[in-house]
Amino acid sequence: MSRTVYVNGEFLPEENAKISVFDRGFLFADAAYEVFPVLGGGIADADAHLARLARSLDELNFPTFYTPDEYLPLLKTLVRNNKLEEGLVYIQVSRGIQDRDFNFPKNTDPSVVMFTQQKSVAENPVAKTGISVITVPDIRWQRCDIKTVGLLPACLAKAEAARQGADDAWMHDEDNNITEGSSNNAHIITQDGKLVTRQLSNAILHGITRVSVLKLLEQTNLILEERPFSIAEAEAAKEAFCSSASAFVMPVVKINGVEIADGKPGPHAVKLRELCIGAAIESAAKAQATRPKRSVKVKSA
Ligand code: PMP
Repeated sequence: MSRTVYVNGEFLPEENAKISVFDRGFLFADAAYEVFPVLGGGIADADAHLARLARSLDELNFPTFYTPDEYLPLLKTLVRNNKLEEGLVYIQVSRGIQDRDFNFPKNTDPSVVMFTQQKSVAENPVAKTGISVITVPDIRWQRCDIKTVGLLPACLAKAEAARQGADDAWMHDEDNNITEGSSNNAHIITQDGKLVTRQLSNAILHGITRVSVLKLLEQTNLILEERPFSIAEAEAAKEAFCSSASAFVMPVVKINGVEIADGKPGPHAVKLRELCIGAAIESAAKAQATRPKRSVKVKSA
C-alpha cells in the first residue's frame, strides 16, 4: 500500500513525492532531521523532538520556516492519513533548492519532507534476546550534537557491524572511549551499580530517549555517572544498553564478541525498557488527546 508523504506543502502518494536534484540536502547533506516514535497512533515526546529540530536548524543558520507549533499538526495529519498505529515519523528539512553553489542561498525556502514508517517499536522481539555490537572509530565531524542527514559514517559503521555478524556498532574516540552508537546513545551499568553514560557535549547527539532514561533512574537503585567510558570498561560491564526513539531501551548482550554478564538482557535494562516504553505510551496518548493549537499552514506548491 502506498504511503502518503508530505513534500513542501503537499500530501502526496509516495510514488509522486519527489525532490529536485538541485536540493542542497542531496548535493551537500545541507539538511537536518528528526524522528519521532508513534505509539497507539499518537506521537511521543513531540515537543522535545521539535525543540531539538529547531535547535539543529538554528545551529546551521537555517531561516525559520515552520515553528514547532506549525510542524505538529502536519505530523499528526500525516500519521492519521497513513493510519499509522505504531512506528516512526520523520521530518527532513534541507536548506532548499538552488543551482550548485557552496554558499548559502538567499531568499530560498527550505525543503520540508515528512514520511512515516510502520515498525514494531515497542513490541520488538529483538529486545527479548538483546543485540550484539562491535566498536569502530568515530570518524564523524565535530558537531555530532546537530542532527544532520550527514549519516554516511553511521551507515559505514552499521555495514561493518553486519559484515562482522553483529547487530550494531558503538563508536569510540581517539582515547578508546565510547562516544555513542551509530544511531543511539550508549550506556553501561558497572559491577558496583552505577549507570555510566557519556556527558552531553558536541561529541554526541543529545538523545531525547537518553533524557527519559535518566529521569527514570529515580525508579531504580542505580547511581548516575555522566562521563566517558572505555571499550574495556564496556566489555567488563554488568549490563549495557542503547537508547533511541526508534528502539527505546535496547539491551546489549555482546560487545566485540565478549558476552556481557551471562549474555542475556540485564534486569536493569529490561526494567528501564518497560518504564521508558510506558512513559512514551503516556506521552503519545496525551498528544493524541490534545488538538493542535494552531491551524495548518500549508505552503503553496
Ligand atoms: N545518537 C545518534 C547518533 C542518533 O542517530 C540517535 C537517534 N536519533 C540517538 C543518539 C538517540 O537519540 P533519540 O533518543 O533522540 O532518538
